[in-house]
Amino acid sequence: MCEKRKDFLSWDEYFMGVAMLSGMRSKDPNTQVGCCIVSKDNKILSMGYNGFPTGCSDDEFPWARDGEDPLETKYVYSTHSELNAILNYNGGSLAGARLYVSLFPCNECAKAIIQCGIREVIYANDKYSDTVSVIASKRMMDAAGVKYHQYQKTDREVMIRL
Ligand SMILES: [Zn+2]
Repeated sequence: MCEKRKDFLSWDEYFMGVAMLSGMRSKDPNTQVGCCIVSKDNKILSMGYNGFPTGCSDDEFPWARDGEDPLETKYVYSTHSELNAILNYNGGSLAGARLYVSLFPCNECAKAIIQCGIREVIYANDKYSDTVSVIASKRMMDAAGVKYHQYQKTDREVMIRL
């Protein structure tokens, strides 16, 4: 008898893998973040990556991180992966969903996550944990009862030839 495969991707590997693959769509030269929103019964509802809003050209708007003129930096224009994934969803409510993201959500994304009813965040990296933005993000998610925990790396390598 032929037994089923044993080395299939776990749910966590699958959803974090999809989040990371989404991040590879980003044109940001410094930071590529991807996100995947999943229903309670493990169906992918939405995906997103960081970039400029529709109509704001990747070639005309600035990607710079520093500059004397803040209007010539990316920060005032870029939309984070989590907000994009939330806004990309047009299937109704995200209440009770969970969100996989490659980098811990900032305070602005935390507001959107809380307000749309996402109840759990699984993040890969928390390298900005000392920043005001991430501290505020955790404070809001704690108050709102949104759970969060770090993705447990399995170190599995997936090679996809495209
Ligand atoms: Zn954000």
